[in-house]
Amino acid sequence: MNHDRPGADLIADIQNFLEAERDLFGNTFLIERRSTSKEPVVSPQKHIVAEQPLLFDLPGPARPPLTTEAWGNATTVDELNARICDCVKCPLGHTRTKFVFGVGNPRATLMLIGEAPGADEDAQGEPFVGRAGQLLNKILEAINFKREDVYICNILKCRPPGNRKPQSGEVDQCIPYLKKQIDLIKPRVILCLGLTAAENLLHTTQSLGTLRGQVLTFEGTPVMITYHPAALLRNPNWKRPTWEDVQALRRLHDQLVAT
Ligand code: URA
Repeated sequence: MNHDRPGADLIADIQNFLEAERDLFGNTFLIERRSTSKEPVVSPQKHIVAEQPLLFDLPGPARPPLTTEAWGNATTVDELNARICDCVKCPLGHTRTKFVFGVGNPRATLMLIGEAPGADEDAQGEPFVGRAGQLLNKILEAINFKREDVYICNILKCRPPGNRKPQSGEVDQCIPYLKKQIDLIKPRVILCLGLTAAENLLHTTQSLGTLRGQVLTFEGTPVMITYHPAALLRNPNWKRPTWEDVQALRRLHDQLVAT
């Protein structure tokens, strides 16, 4: 606290906040409008989901076990990682540099799922550490999450050559590991980053434009979908809708954690 200049800390905080916003969104200053009238601020279809009470899937009949393999018995994410990190069930196991299991708080209330490791992630063994990862960190900061508070992982744990899209055979082998991670972490809400994550987790064929603003569920866990940070680097026009999506995600998260 700066006692000599009352308010200096606050001004420094505001300055840091504005600089972070500018890095993230450019010179357009985005503010969350709180409606004072009965008129919805944005199209009701898009945001109604996070502002209404949510109905969730009731617990169904017990799910069959994911696998009879030893990793299925892991009771912590570290144990799971140790049991699967040498996986060569698909050809990507032979071309990867590092297995990219996932990173973050094993008790996270928010889980983010991307597509697959890129070159930087393959080299470092950690998801979202390249340019898209830097942007993801800023997106998280914009909704008051630190990277270490959440859990970040991908549909695939190994890099597809040339960053091509995951193939169905690769996803079939790898997604049980992701399901086990979700089972162990038990996030209150999942955010899919990009259509590939949503398609493979939710088996949906809807467009990203249709999926945004909805709350779907994966085995009872609420799931929201937004643009992949790499797509935002290519098309900055998607930053504003992403900002709206993550604000809605934050509201939903807070509602869920409070219940
Ligand atoms: N893109 C992804 O989908 N995942 C990563 O880990 C990095 C880039």
